[in-house]
Amino acid sequence: MNGVKRSRIEIDDISGLITKVSEPTGSADFIFKDELIFPGFIDLHVHAREDSSHTQDYKEDFKTAGEAAINGGVVAFAEMPNNPVPPIDDVSYEKKKELTQESPIEVVLYAGIGPDTKPLSKTVPYKAFMGPSVGELFFHSQKELEETIKNYERQNISFHCEDSVILESSKGAPTHENKRPKEAEISAVDFALYLTKKYNLISKICHCSTIESIEKIINVKKQGVKVSVEVTPHHLFFDETMLDEKNHTLLQVNPPIRQSKENRLGLISALKNGDIDYLATDHAPHTVEEKKKGMSGMPHLDTYGSFVAWLMKEHSFTPGEVTRVCSQNPGNFINQFTQSKYGKIKEGYLGSLSILDLTRSVKITEDKLKTKCKWSPFEGMIFPGSQVMTIIKGRVYEK
Ligand SMILES: [Zn+2]
Repeated sequence: MNGVKRSRIEIDDISGLITKVSEPTGSADFIFKDELIFPGFIDLHVHAREDSSHTQDYKEDFKTAGEAAINGGVVAFAEMPNNPVPPIDDVSYEKKKELTQESPIEVVLYAGIGPDTKPLSKTVPYKAFMGPSVGELFFHSQKELEETIKNYERQNISFHCEDSVILESSKGAPTHENKRPKEAEISAVDFALYLTKKYNLISKICHCSTIESIEKIINVKKQGVKVSVEVTPHHLFFDETMLDEKNHTLLQVNPPIRQSKENRLGLISALKNGDIDYLATDHAPHTVEEKKKGMSGMPHLDTYGSFVAWLMKEHSFTPGEVTRVCSQNPGNFINQFTQSKYGKIKEGYLGSLSILDLTRSVKITEDKLKTKCKWSPFEGMIFPGSQVMTIIKGRVYEK
């Protein structure tokens, strides 16, 4: 297969680091014939729900989110701050950081940006919610947002792009999709790009759902503006032609699934050709009961690897293209905020690997999920390949 090499990978038990990558000779703990070994996948957009209030631990916590991640081949994740007690300053951030010790994999926390917050004393990634989504941490207007962003010059900020004024004016619309039209995203992306240029930010646009927004991002990237962009599995997999009465509430999410099939296929091409930088899930574990009441978001960590197999088999992603958007680019992102090195199979990098078998299809069923919320938007579906092993710093998690 294109871009694939047979190699022997040695990982030191104690340091957990890759010590040698060489010709495939001699005996080994594991010998893979047909499976593909990737530098461990990294998910830059996870909501693990746990915070110092512990009021949402019934949905997920750092331990179960970490277990779901390993189950899906994810070896580290970056976690979002829209908690009841949001991490917005040194004290609240460190308090939440302590809770991440329960996770079996490394968690990098975003600090929240809300009205009148200021940067922390250490280097961390930030998240700004431009309009209301889940939680109370958001801005009511662009003016209010800019007043705060002024404090964050040259910082690394991820934006949830939905324009609160457009959301407000559409809130009487009959469906979730119409309440959050694509114009809300496009307008907010424009404003995020304006802020990025004006305040020299290093920005990331979260869960981008429209081709129009992607085109704007491509244009400013060409001008040297420091911006990157995520796409979710649900915006790559579902479109308006697939919504029905049965799945409609489970698939409710912000930004919504309101796209045409053409837009969806456009997002897949943009991820494949490198215009989109990251496959990031927006893993948002709510209970099925909460979903029935209209809560937005869906879980994804458990199915990350099978979803990658779908991209490879159904949409001809090469191993190199997968590595770029699932390992290398997200690795470069979190490497700025941790001592470890993620994203490559190379001496000195972490011995954390994701191993896929493209010949072993898998049916997604509840018993295969480790997330505490115990459901998946893909339940009942068959993916054409599966995650068969995840290695975390040399420690093997086999299926
Ligand atoms: Zn999110």
